[in-house]
Amino acid sequence: MKNKSIWSDTKINKNYKELSSDIKTDILIIGGGITGINILYNLKDEDVILVERNKIGSGVTLNTTGKLTYFQDNIYNNIIKNYDEKTASLYLKSQIEAIEIIKEIINNNNIECDFTKTKSYVFTDKKEDIENIKLLKQFLEKNNIKVYENDMKVLKYLYSISVDDTYHFNPIKYIDRLLNLIDKNKIYENTNIIDIKYKDDKYICSTKTNKIIANKIVLATHYPYFIYPYFFPLKCFLEKSYLVSFKEKIDNISLISYNKPTTSMRNYKDNVIYLSETHGLCNEVDDKTHFNNLLNKIDKKPDYIWSNIDIITNDYIPYIGYMKKDFLISTGYNTWGMTNSVLSGKIISDLIHNKKNEYVKLFDPKRSKKKLRILSDTFSTLKGYYEGFTNKNSKIKYTKINGIDAMIYKEDDKEYIVKRKCPHAKCNLLFNEEELTFDCPCHASRFDLEGNAIKGPSKYNIKIKKDK
Ligand SMILES: Cc1cc2nc3c(=O)[nH]c(=O)nc-3n(C[C@H](O)[C@H](O)[C@H](O)COP(=O)(O)OP(=O)(O)OC[C@H]3O[C@@H](n4cnc5c(N)ncnc54)[C@H](O)[C@@H]3O)c2cc1C
Repeated sequence: MKNKSIWSDTKINKNYKELSSDIKTDILIIGGGITGINILYNLKDEDVILVERNKIGSGVTLNTTGKLTYFQDNIYNNIIKNYDEKTASLYLKSQIEAIEIIKEIINNNNIECDFTKTKSYVFTDKKEDIENIKLLKQFLEKNNIKVYENDMKVLKYLYSISVDDTYHFNPIKYIDRLLNLIDKNKIYENTNIIDIKYKDDKYICSTKTNKIIANKIVLATHYPYFIYPYFFPLKCFLEKSYLVSFKEKIDNISLISYNKPTTSMRNYKDNVIYLSETHGLCNEVDDKTHFNNLLNKIDKKPDYIWSNIDIITNDYIPYIGYMKKDFLISTGYNTWGMTNSVLSGKIISDLIHNKKNEYVKLFDPKRSKKKLRILSDTFSTLKGYYEGFTNKNSKIKYTKINGIDAMIYKEDDKEYIVKRKCPHAKCNLLFNEEELTFDCPCHASRFDLEGNAIKGPSKYNIKIKKDK
């Protein structure tokens, strides 16, 4: 069993240089996940640069399920609750359009990424969800979508509805093939932006050694740091899920539970990808139990096991657009980043080109802060901080090195020494035994055994050199 995602074995067959001198550009995209790459594709003929702090496609996108669907659990009912049916219909239209856009990109460029048509199901095993799923069905039908009731042949749930025209794919193959269409010199890997300053109508973005001066910035870093006041906990929260994949030949299928904790499943060729045990990041720190529960739910030998974290917005609509002058962001996809990242490519390029786009208002990141979460999330962060502080893993030796709280992990005679506190907000890190990472229970930064920051908001790594 591999403790990483099923997509990890799909290689991005390119190596991009690291920034080694100061440069100027009109547009700088920060972040090389599916969001950054879709935006870059739309802007590829411009004076544009994309920087990625690690390898392209190594962030949240590497750990996704890869469904391309407008059939998104309880999102529409939540949008109706927060706004109205008109707003939910516009969101639905945007998701269907995103699927059309990606279909066109794939077809026009002969992109081979295992893009497959599937039937998609939303299901429940809870009586109390049935009425809400019926409301969802009515909403979709009003928007001219053919919806089927209880026609699930493979698995039996109490109640389910389904639609025909949805897709899934291999997201890393998609990125890799899209990169073939983009000038190599526009991309830098291993280039970590640690500071952004605004001076004389320009953004000065610094790495440890160099500067990039840009007229416009697009933040595609997933966690939208560099933005003050903070997005967290005002506008979003973090949700974690656990995934496994195993060999089994089933029909092309995509299903998801209506409510949380989410259960989700799809096939990828002759494999099943199964997700469950979803929880708010700060609410629990016990990864091991969740991984064990996940394994108990399948009666198969898994080939891959991993976890992933996404950003959930307060009103279930992503944040795509201008945050401030010449500063754009795209994030908060509520676990539906495959469609929304494609959409963001179009919205952001239209905004930069001053073209009209009917979704600008819907996704405006500056829209009013519905339902402030300050208290509950601050409490959860404190809880994460406290639990990280008290939770000690028996595989780790806790010590101090040169006055710094440190953790030591030994594997095959190799010793890994890292800082105990996350550089982002000083929460104590937890050792994730299954994926061999150090994880922050507060804001989802993750570090590999060597201490490199691989996901989340930490701009810095946690390496400690013993001789220092
Ligand atoms: C369990 C789970 C299942 C999911 N399944 C689906 C699904 O089936 N369908 C769907 O539509 N969506 C799904 N999603 C959501 C989707 O995977 C994400 O929304 C999407 O991958 C986010 O992509 P991204 O490019 O914004 O982020 P990332 O892939 O994380 O990319 C951001 C990049 O920015 C880089 N970066 C960060 N900071 C810096 C910096 N300072 N300088 C330079 N680079 C930086 C990072 O290294 C990273 O590579 C799922 C999410 C989860 C948690």
